[in-house]
Amino acid sequence: MRKMVLRSPRTPLELEETGSAAGLGPEDVRIRARACGVCRTDLHVVDGELDHPKLPLVPGHEIVGVVTEAGTSVHSLSVGDRVGVPWLGWTCGECEFCRSGRENLCMRARFTGYDIDGGYAEETVADARYCFRIPARFDDVSAAPLLCAGLIGYRSYRLTGEGKRLGLYGFGASAHIVAQVAHHFGREVYAFTKPGDRTGQEFARSMGADWAGGSDERPPHELDAAILFAPVGALVPAALAVTVRGGTVVCAGIHMSDVPSFPYRLLWEERAVRSVANLTRRDGEEFLPLAAEIPLRTTTTTFPLPHANDALARLREGRVDGAIVLVP
Ligand SMILES: [Zn+2]
Ligand SMILES: [Zn+2]
Repeated sequence: MRKMVLRSPRTPLELEETGSAAGLGPEDVRIRARACGVCRTDLHVVDGELDHPKLPLVPGHEIVGVVTEAGTSVHSLSVGDRVGVPWLGWTCGECEFCRSGRENLCMRARFTGYDIDGGYAEETVADARYCFRIPARFDDVSAAPLLCAGLIGYRSYRLTGEGKRLGLYGFGASAHIVAQVAHHFGREVYAFTKPGDRTGQEFARSMGADWAGGSDERPPHELDAAILFAPVGALVPAALAVTVRGGTVVCAGIHMSDVPSFPYRLLWEERAVRSVANLTRRDGEEFLPLAAEIPLRTTTTTFPLPHANDALARLREGRVDGAIVLVP
């Protein structure tokens, strides 16, 4: 099988041909991958912005595929089932976070495409207990971005509270999904792109944003909450400055440039800044059926698996509407 391998950070992925993916543990399933989304986190791993990835590593944590073999203890899935493999690959089940419904914060969590080989490959192995069933409504490519951009976006969305006006900073894979969720629940969406990015603003409006502008612009109304998808720390004070008293600014990314110092009055009046980390299985069990019910539509650009480096370059440059998906 073919796979794209990161040998060391800040070097291009290498195409390798090997036998089957790693051996199968009792809880594991072997999966023939049909699509794998390219997430900004993959870029942070490849660019060396996240510490201690497994090396060599097959990146990718938005995997859609079909089970071809199941370990001896697997009862939830069978050969032939179509599944999704997300970022959360394994948790200990024992720490205080696991035991209080916060397995996303597990002290010993292992992540797909970071601690465990992921989906930039024709075949992968995953712990069946962390896989999701993919609603039949979605084809493989459309479903892939739901597994991280959608899921973590949804978790971020839930943490924004009840306010009507929602700002989204960075209108990429996650925001184009969250905008639809927000509309479904009757909210208004204010999309912020890089200053002057007319194409990005056009795309946001085509996805139903009620307003789109540059991150240096003031929206026509104060926001009740904002989610930052762009990994730019300076957006924290920028978003606070246009958020109403009592509002929340949620940082959705795993990595961000430093947040510059800012006057306390931007935080005063019970504004809150918080981050979102990872996902729980419960998030997926809630989000994927909702995605089918709304139904969400994902905008995707596909690349053949061996062109993963081009796909990453495209994401790094920010020249993409919606999500990028690799197809083996
Ligand atoms: Zn744990
Ligand atoms: Zn991701």
